Amino acid sequence: MIGVLALQGDVREHFAALTAAGATPRQVRRPEELAEVEALVIPGGESTTMSKLAVIFGLLGPLRERVRAGMPVYGTCAGMIMLADKILDGRDDQETIGGIDMIVRRNAFGRQNESFEARVDIEGIDGGPVEGVFIRAPWVESVGGDAEVLATFDGHTVAVRQGNVLATSFHPELTGDHRVHKLFVDLVRAAG
Ligand code: GLN
Repeated sequence: MIGVLALQGDVREHFAALTAAGATPRQVRRPEELAEVEALVIPGGESTTMSKLAVIFGLLGPLRERVRAGMPVYGTCAGMIMLADKILDGRDDQETIGGIDMIVRRNAFGRQNESFEARVDIEGIDGGPVEGVFIRAPWVESVGGDAEVLATFDGHTVAVRQGNVLATSFHPELTGDHRVHKLFVDLVRAAG
């Protein structure tokens, strides 16, 4: 079963996308719920709030442990920030789960472009580029040796994978195109 971290953010949209991709998602808000899922999606939203709530709900430690133990995870936008080993322009007390050896810059695409759409070619996704919805999106400033860049836009890395952990700067859950969720569902099946 694939969980969706339901502390904050666009949980419902990920539910719909995962369901369309053939999975049966469930919400994860408590450590006991995390223990019951085999994989997790971390939605878009606001990473400082999500980080704060993860601490309050006692989930940050268990999330770190599960990711370290190899649980497949997919994070979009704020979810990407949560999966970065290191962030730039975060709040001083902002915690991440980590899991991908990358440095992610919050709100990197800038204010004049707070929201835009662009076609993005993603390694491992056939059938042409996906419509990338970027909302106050981060970009990946740099990746370490074990992380693989799957997509760039305008010279910046916007999709990364490290083992079973996948992250995109943009929100495939907000489009009708479920190929990225399908890629994740396939990855979860292969891992199980
Ligand atoms: N800018 C947000 C943050 O820093 C992320 C935006 C999003 O998830 N669409 O958390």
